[in-house]
Amino acid sequence: MNNSNRLRIAIQKGGRLSKDCQDLLKQLGVKLNLREQRLIAHSTNMPIDVLRVRDDDIPGLVMDGVCDLGIVGENVLVEVQAERMRQGVPSEVTKLSKLDFGYCRLALAWPQELGARDKSWFEGKRIATTYPEILTQWLKREGINASTVMLTGSVEVAPRAGLSDAICDLVSTGATLEANGLIQGETILESNACLIQNKDLQDADKLALINKLMPRLRGVRQAKE
Ligand code: ATP
Ligand code: ZN
Repeated sequence: MNNSNRLRIAIQKGGRLSKDCQDLLKQLGVKLNLREQRLIAHSTNMPIDVLRVRDDDIPGLVMDGVCDLGIVGENVLVEVQAERMRQGVPSEVTKLSKLDFGYCRLALAWPQELGARDKSWFEGKRIATTYPEILTQWLKREGINASTVMLTGSVEVAPRAGLSDAICDLVSTGATLEANGLIQGETILESNACLIQNKDLQDADKLALINKLMPRLRGVRQAKE
């Protein structure tokens, strides 16, 4: 558990969510000294420490209570949740708010030269993905027997490299798929960044601070509408 009396928030270190997370903290009035390339940044005006880590580590840090809050894509949250549930380790969090950045969808795609395909085409195929749990659950729901090939990066080159028949990857504009000669198919998950909290958090001071920040967050979100 996080025994520090400072509220600990996990955000992505260098990636698509980093800038939006830093901007959001600033809009909430949290002053940070993020100049150094350090793991922890201490707020200079509130009892808050910001931990900067890989996005994949954020749900686990919050579920295990190492961090009190975290900002992460729902795609990563759902994947880690399913994996941890299977392993029988704590997988619940309190979802405080959906955020207005990090929108993407997890979609199936296959080589353009195959032309239009429906779901039944995936029967017996190999699908490369970074999200094997979400994909496996979807395949099960759809009654499709296909195998998954786990890749943590460069998923879009897997069919060309002969590693898989198709892919299931994150898409925002579709430009990367097109550049790799792939056709986008069914979306299996829509995702935004979200703010999560450790579900067992009981420290009264930390809860009071969160209660102070939440109306500000709602204000920031409304101002954007
Ligand atoms: P890390 O080094 O932290 O593991 P990463 O390479 O896994 O980084 P990023 O590519 O920085 O992750 O993406 C972080 C998150 O941004 C994704 O998990 C997703 O929620 C969101 N996102 C939004 N648009 C896209 C997109 N087009 N492709 C990938 N992720 C996107
Ligand atoms: Zn990642």
